[in-house]
Amino acid sequence: MKFLLSLVTLTALSILISGCGNNNQGAGDTRVRVVATTGMVGDAVRMIAGDKVDLTVMMGAGVDPHLYKATKGDIDHLNDADVIFYNGLHLEAKLTDVFKKMASVKTVVAVGDLIDSTQLRFPAGAEGHPDPHIWFDLILWRQAVSRVSEVLAAEDPVHADLYRANGKAYDDSLAALGDWVTAQIATIPEEHRVLVTAHDAFEYFGRRYGLDVRGLQGISTVTEAGLHDITSMVDFLSEHGIKAVFVESSVPRNTLEAVVGGCQEKGHDVTIGGQLYSDAMGRAGTPDGTFLGMVRHNVNTIVQALR
Ligand SMILES: [Zn+2]
Repeated sequence: MKFLLSLVTLTALSILISGCGNNNQGAGDTRVRVVATTGMVGDAVRMIAGDKVDLTVMMGAGVDPHLYKATKGDIDHLNDADVIFYNGLHLEAKLTDVFKKMASVKTVVAVGDLIDSTQLRFPAGAEGHPDPHIWFDLILWRQAVSRVSEVLAAEDPVHADLYRANGKAYDDSLAALGDWVTAQIATIPEEHRVLVTAHDAFEYFGRRYGLDVRGLQGISTVTEAGLHDITSMVDFLSEHGIKAVFVESSVPRNTLEAVVGGCQEKGHDVTIGGQLYSDAMGRAGTPDGTFLGMVRHNVNTIVQALR
């Protein structure tokens, strides 16, 4: 039955993919059409290409990429696109089949495939999938987006020099951001460097910048936290005297609120230290709606609550 169902889904998908998409681009607009999945991937394209390409970012503020399914509108955009950039490493779990099919007819790049694979984490309980949250380790993320400018240059040679220059400038700004993060985290007393969040999106961040990271859920949000996860987190926080936990903009906060309540029942005071952007950036048009702004917001929030 399960096999039949997936066969039906695949057939429906191929009809959608081979069918003509709606061209959302205005008449006479000959720019290269680019689709990016997450805001983080989209930010790299926007900073490197500016308005020289027609960019569509599929997942806006507050959207969870682990659970995201393509809409009819998304399929139209993907059909029309010249280039598709996605995170990969199983982050956009429910879109993987679509991208595999698209790759036979157009340029499809999983930026996560470009990082040094020996640096990937393979957490227990993740069914052999790597941890996909590579963007909070700036050294890994620089590797991931390092080829965006070359891919765009190949699609649109007229603007190749601009893409390469902007790619270099973007890389420089990510390197400077990494130095700033290192300096900020160093201001937190060592015994307070424990980051507790709803799901496990910050392990690479913790490994690079020296924080002990605990997520209530695993690296995906597909499996919800159970009573056992909540109880053991309450014990951990009480035993270690940890004062703050952090909610995420793309994950419901109820399980983490249950942890705070559980701690209070045990007589240990824990507060919500603030909201972090984990798998989605802030609203477009605000500082937190850029990748650099998102990282700065997170680090400032963490430092203020833990210092
Ligand atoms: Zn995640």
